[in-house]
Amino acid sequence: MGIAVDYGDFIIIRPKQNYRMNSNITIIKGKNPIVIDSGTPRNPGIRLFKKTLSDYHINPLSIKYIIITHEHQDHALNLFKIQRACKNAKVICNLNVLHKVQHQFSQYKGDDETYKLMGISKMKSFVINIIFPLFFMIFYQTIPIYPRIDYCISNNIKYSGLHLEKLTSIKSGDVKIWFIPTPGHSNGHLSVLDSNGNLYLGDIVPSTPWIEPSAEALNDMIISIKNILTLDDKLVKLTVRAHGDFRKKRWEITDWNVEKVKFKLFLEKILSSLEKIPQILKIPLTTQEITGIIFPRSLKYSSLMSLFTFSPSISWSIAYCLKLEKDGKIQRKTIKNKIYWLKT
Ligand SMILES: [Zn+2]
Repeated sequence: MGIAVDYGDFIIIRPKQNYRMNSNITIIKGKNPIVIDSGTPRNPGIRLFKKTLSDYHINPLSIKYIIITHEHQDHALNLFKIQRACKNAKVICNLNVLHKVQHQFSQYKGDDETYKLMGISKMKSFVINIIFPLFFMIFYQTIPIYPRIDYCISNNIKYSGLHLEKLTSIKSGDVKIWFIPTPGHSNGHLSVLDSNGNLYLGDIVPSTPWIEPSAEALNDMIISIKNILTLDDKLVKLTVRAHGDFRKKRWEITDWNVEKVKFKLFLEKILSSLEKIPQILKIPLTTQEITGIIFPRSLKYSSLMSLFTFSPSISWSIAYCLKLEKDGKIQRKTIKNKIYWLKT
């Protein structure tokens, strides 16, 4: 691992290990290449990035744009080094995550609500908020440096089908790209389609393990998936994921007609869970108990990790419950200082 893979129109720089905790760096080839995501300082790292550019005879100064699909550390934490290496490149991200991209270890707005739902005391969440940044600085062996962002894409997205002429687009040398706002995994997630028919999904992938734990995230996710499914088959050949899977033959890429079926199944699973949760809540259940029922195979998070953060499946349960609560289908009830969910 820790290698660059040439897929023809683009190059993927894979992290050395742990493809779950580190995203790849994608380089769209051309006269003025485009970089998507930065990875973390250790992985794939600036050394491998520079080596790949030189191996493929890409002048770093010819790189015109760096796109950050979303603010998560595994995608954006090495931005300051990548942008220092590509001095002419303009950096683009979604307006919704501008602050988080630049302040990598700041707290999420929804964190306090999540801690509350998880039954974590105010005192403990206060301590977690102090330890959390330190933990990740040690984990990724870095101190965050404020990166410069040049342009932001706004996020006004409705389910209306994707019409290319309505999307923000840019030309970079001989390649044109369109920005597709795909909130859900993060409220400022961006996917990118290029004129060669490659759809760079970032982390909006079928069955993404993580969703932003907020009341709006599920609506966002549903709209994003429906919008992706409206993309014209003539426009998309391949999808490219930001995290590869070594169990797949071609780790990062999937044919559009295969990925489309997976997206449809993913959407069905989301809609059926939204139906199922109120039904199981004839008796009050905690967020953790709901997680166990909806995601029976959800891995038990390592106890060290669970001290600092919560498991990805919990993020889904929280998003489901908050949406159902907002829609008036379930309600919360405090019994002996513990928050339970109950059908209305
Ligand atoms: Zn992510």
